[in-house]
Amino acid sequence: MNGNPIVTKIELIEFAWVAENIGLSPFGHQPTYLPGATWRRTRTIMRMHTDDGIVGEVSPVPSLPGSWRGILGESALDRERIYNRLKLAGSEGLGAVDNCLWDIAGKVLGLPAFRLLGGDRARLPTHISTMNGALDGPLSTPESFADYAEEALGMGYGGFKIHPWPGGSIRSHTALVAAVGDRVGGRMDLMMDPFCSYPTFADALKVGWACDDYRYLWLEDPYADNGVSHFGHRKLRELIKTPLLQGEKAKGLEERVNLIIAGATDLVRGDPIEWGLTSTMKLAHAAEGLGLDIEMHGVGPVCRQAMAACRNSNYYELSWVHPDLPAPHPPIFAEYDDTIWAVSKDDGCVPTPLLPGLGVRYDWDWINAHLESRRVVADIADGVH
Ligand SMILES: [Mg+2]
Repeated sequence: MNGNPIVTKIELIEFAWVAENIGLSPFGHQPTYLPGATWRRTRTIMRMHTDDGIVGEVSPVPSLPGSWRGILGESALDRERIYNRLKLAGSEGLGAVDNCLWDIAGKVLGLPAFRLLGGDRARLPTHISTMNGALDGPLSTPESFADYAEEALGMGYGGFKIHPWPGGSIRSHTALVAAVGDRVGGRMDLMMDPFCSYPTFADALKVGWACDDYRYLWLEDPYADNGVSHFGHRKLRELIKTPLLQGEKAKGLEERVNLIIAGATDLVRGDPIEWGLTSTMKLAHAAEGLGLDIEMHGVGPVCRQAMAACRNSNYYELSWVHPDLPAPHPPIFAEYDDTIWAVSKDDGCVPTPLLPGLGVRYDWDWINAHLESRRVVADIADGVH
């Protein structure tokens, strides 16, 4: 090990698994509970090799860079330079590449990423984030959402975020807000995330008023502007009391900061999987300087590392669970849990993974048993850089 690892090779590993009782929602692109359905799913792991034998690993891989120039042959510790290059090239591949670089840096220095960033949070308060509402069975009615919230409360969760059924009437959504609020309001934090499914601003307003009645902690991405309108969300904030959480669909750091400065959100959306830990920490510090909190989107080791590095973040999002689908994520990490049972009843927290880099070891037995393909997409020996 020479302390300056040079990126020599990029490898992509694809695996597949069959998920049961899940399929694509008839209302859109979101995975949803469909009893009896099976769905063959695939996912990628990126492995970034260096000349001193350290390998950075990350999964999922939301996108790939258009070119490996400016990455291959470079020092894996030059995160700022590579971040800026990829950003200027359109940001494709930014999240996966940047997070691989963080994994390498942690492995070089023998510390988890959050410790390199000066963080000290070993336990992360966690909220449930439901799968979207179903057509039948659990999570198909306001009362069944309330049942699940009560179950989550009993398991130790401090928060419950609703992804409602897209395509339902606004009256059914306000009834859902009320049913969950009546059942567990005041005993756990509640959030509502219609993922931009409402056709009109007025729909967002009506659901916002319902959230006001029950003091929801936040309303997220309510209507179909794709969650990025500065004027619309500033206006919505004037008309409802519930804090807004906007920015999930905004690009990277600058567009999210623009949302904050425009007064279009109360809480700030970070996304370390999509945009990388480097961009997310810049955003976390921008939010901190403005006196605001950042909430990380989605599950996974890198989300935990990001939150553990911040003072100003409230919840880890244990996402896309359903009473009959308590373990929706492929079990690719050893000794790491993103199932419904991951949270401790004692403190409502999940642990920050502590191994060097992004904190985890991959379960290669499971991955190799589900292997689809393994290919080298860039190799310094080929002179492609
Ligand atoms: Mg969301």
